[in-house]
Amino acid sequence: MNLITVIACSFALLAIPQSSPIDALRKADPNQKFKVVKSDSAWQSQLSRPAYLVLRKSGTEKPYTGKFWDFHGQGTFVCAACGQELFSSSTKFDSHTGWPSFYQEINPGKTLVRADRSTGEERSEVICARCGGHLGHVFDDGPEPTHLRYCMNSPALKFIPAKTK
Ligand code: FE
Repeated sequence: MNLITVIACSFALLAIPQSSPIDALRKADPNQKFKVVKSDSAWQSQLSRPAYLVLRKSGTEKPYTGKFWDFHGQGTFVCAACGQELFSSSTKFDSHTGWPSFYQEINPGKTLVRADRSTGEERSEVICARCGGHLGHVFDDGPEPTHLRYCMNSPALKFIPAKTK
């Protein structure tokens, strides 16, 4: 194979669309019906202001400010709005982003993803599959074994410590 062929083959390989582990995640249906549905005023009165702004208004906490980015407790993270289990502390890792990060949901389908083009760049929004609350985004630059990085917002999560025997 001469050099030109090698270069041509390299460009051909680059042109093949690479699949992302995000592609395999469950997608939210545009007409998704959630098990937990409340009025905006009900959510406002139930949730703290920071939790309301993240979960119901798709807000983002400032990095390195939330209570979970540097938190190392053993247990389960649940949705701060509906209480659904979302992530185990065993899949939490330090992403050096200032946001709590996980490489896997606690069970498949606890969250749903949908395209988010609100900032101009295409991102994958993560929502709670039970109440539709905004949790954060998922990226494909996470660690083994999934290569996923669930980049979450602390106010959207509550921590339930593991029971000690
Ligand atoms: Fe929820």
